[in-house]
Amino acid sequence: AKQFGSNTVQFYRDSLQGGSRERLLLEAQLDKALVRGELEVFYQPKLNVAANRLQGAEALVRWRHPQRGLVSPASFIPLAEETGQIDAIGAFVLREACAQARAWQQSGVAELRVAVNISMGQLRQDDFVEQVGAVLAKTGLPAHLLELELTESQLSDDVESLARVFLRLRALGVRLAIDDFGTGYSSLGYLKHLPVDVVKIDRTFIHSLDGSGRGGDAAITRAIIAMAHNLGLEVVAEGVEAQVQLEFLREHGCDEIQGYLIGRPVEAAILANRLRGQAAQ
Ligand code: C2E
Ligand code: CA
Ligand code: CA
Ligand code: CA
Repeated sequence: AKQFGSNTVQFYRDSLQGGSRERLLLEAQLDKALVRGELEVFYQPKLNVAANRLQGAEALVRWRHPQRGLVSPASFIPLAEETGQIDAIGAFVLREACAQARAWQQSGVAELRVAVNISMGQLRQDDFVEQVGAVLAKTGLPAHLLELELTESQLSDDVESLARVFLRLRALGVRLAIDDFGTGYSSLGYLKHLPVDVVKIDRTFIHSLDGSGRGGDAAITRAIIAMAHNLGLEVVAEGVEAQVQLEFLREHGCDEIQGYLIGRPVEAAILANRLRGQAAQ
């Protein structure tokens, strides 16, 4: 088990590697979880480095399982992607996150940009762009306060049809981010073809930054920041856990950082308290 905030997150042992019986059980339970309202969205703050202010938050789904406690998305998102349940789960997270960001904006808590993870299966739905437009219209969230995160390793296939969807999403005014940047094989090539706004440096590169500026990961991090800025993109670093990592990233002009140093994913109400404190400063 792993710690998230004060809550212990349970992993389903062998849920994915395990037998088909276990998987079927999990799949059936996940269907019920949605209907019963057991899925919840947590929010992890993102710090604007130059302004030293919380400016965004990533929506991260959790499953509050009646017997097993808080279940990590790593235990059920991959399965949901295989079964297609990700469409319904993703739609829930998108609605929830947009409604939350709008509520914070309207109540004066904060004008926070919310980032939502989107799986490739969701993006391939014929009406995905319409779904996003409808959620924005229904919640009243201004499109520029929504960012969609797409994981690099999932972007491998047909770049041209992806680019068409990306263009339609950007026409709505939504921001697009490439998540886990640097872990795929085609990072540089497709950046030229895909209209995106943000690259999110994968936390495996950030992990070993020790402030010395030496080592391959430091070199790669510097190179990603420089390249992204040359392309006119913003850069977010995820998995920032230490002050020396923050200093290194600040020194090299990284725009936003996210990680346990700034805050763990927490319930909306907990983040709201922190945001009110920031507004009061
Ligand atoms: P991700 O999109 O790369 O999200 C970042 C993960 O890193 C989160 O794990 C977060 O809790 C964790 N993290 C944040 N800061 C730190 C840090 O300083 N150190 C370390 N070691 N880890 C940190 P989480 O919440 O367990 O989510 C895991 C993955 O599940 C996400 O990775 C994302 O790929 C997926 N996921 C979560 N929510 C959704 C969702 O609503 N839809 C989809 N499609 N995927 C989701
Ligand atoms: Ca993400
Ligand atoms: Ca990531
Ligand atoms: Ca990831």
